[in-house]
Amino acid sequence: MKLTRLRLFDFRNYETLDLTLDPGVNLILGENAQGKTNLLEAVGYLSTGRSFRTQKTQELIRFGASFADLNADVFSQGRDQNIRAVLFSGRRPRQLYLGGVKQKSAAALPGVLTTVLFCPEDLALIKSGAAERRAFLDHAICQLRPRYGEALAQYHKLLDHKTRILRDWEKNPSLLEVLEDFNEAMARASALLIHYRAHFVGKLAPRAAQIQRDFSGDREELTLSYQTVGTVRNPLGPTVSIYEDLRAHQDSHRRAELEARSCLSGPHKDDLAAWIDGQPARQFASQGQTRTAALSLKLAERELFEDDTGQWPVLLLDDVLSELDARRQDFVLDRITGGQVFITSCEAPAGEISRGKILHIHQGALVDSPN
Ligand code: ATP
Ligand code: MG
Repeated sequence: MKLTRLRLFDFRNYETLDLTLDPGVNLILGENAQGKTNLLEAVGYLSTGRSFRTQKTQELIRFGASFADLNADVFSQGRDQNIRAVLFSGRRPRQLYLGGVKQKSAAALPGVLTTVLFCPEDLALIKSGAAERRAFLDHAICQLRPRYGEALAQYHKLLDHKTRILRDWEKNPSLLEVLEDFNEAMARASALLIHYRAHFVGKLAPRAAQIQRDFSGDREELTLSYQTVGTVRNPLGPTVSIYEDLRAHQDSHRRAELEARSCLSGPHKDDLAAWIDGQPARQFASQGQTRTAALSLKLAERELFEDDTGQWPVLLLDDVLSELDARRQDFVLDRITGGQVFITSCEAPAGEISRGKILHIHQGALVDSPN
């Protein structure tokens, strides 16, 4: 997948912009607050039909303007395609077009322009709590397997409901009559989630480890492991046996859950644990190592997507270079092969870039090289 041309009209701080893009690396340089992230946001919007920064459409429209128009020529699924979004201020719903044909919803977008975004907050993925790592897994697997997204939504609904039962059963003991049904349905959904997550991590781990080795000049060994409910003997095994293990666990923990008045176990507590050179990364790894590991996870996600679909997603790297040393910067700029990459940065990198182009952005406009 490649973005060949991007046109913006009254989007964020861009009045008009018309960019021709490189199929390899596009390095977007500019001082703070000039519109670098806005540019990635526009690409992200055309990819997913929503912004990765805000839920409010109004914020995306240039101050004082009444609508914004985003338009991308892309090459994907073996042909030239066009995606366009028109956003209105006020209540008028946004319009999405594929090849000039108006779409009823964003449902037609997936697969046309897939993006993998990496922003400064993601650098903390390894050091942050398990919830962030679960979100990483969920997001990645949802893109690949629609069935996973359905099971996940169902699981969360059941979990909310069961949590309320466990919270209120003393006041209202009749609630316990349905607890068994919930346990049953949750074990089914959980087995599916665990199965998908285990298989995904199984494929992700060796990729991420290889990327981390490349990043660090063979000096760092990254090990990833999927951690789920302890009684599940083989998360990679058939879903029926995962289901049975979960049911047994529920039976033996029934009393404990009633006493604790909360759901004590399940895939909502899963984690993706990381070790670097045999030490738990959360406690012992350096800032640079954990940042690199977070980036390795995302780059591995991108490779898995390519394995699965035969197409490279477009990689959006917001402001990550400044956090990396020269060797790691060089890796990002020169050795991410395969697909198209957008990288924003305030400073020109230490080394040369051997492929791709540099776009200088100043106050919402493309400018010629400032030197
Ligand atoms: P940094 O290097 O600090 O991350 P950046 O180049 O990524 O900077 P952006 O976040 O892309 O900066 O752009 C921020 C600028 O865009 C701000 O100055 C902000 O005021 C402006 N901006 C944001 N939304 C709008 C809008 N709807 N209309 C006009 N300008 C906007
Ligand atoms: Mg920015």
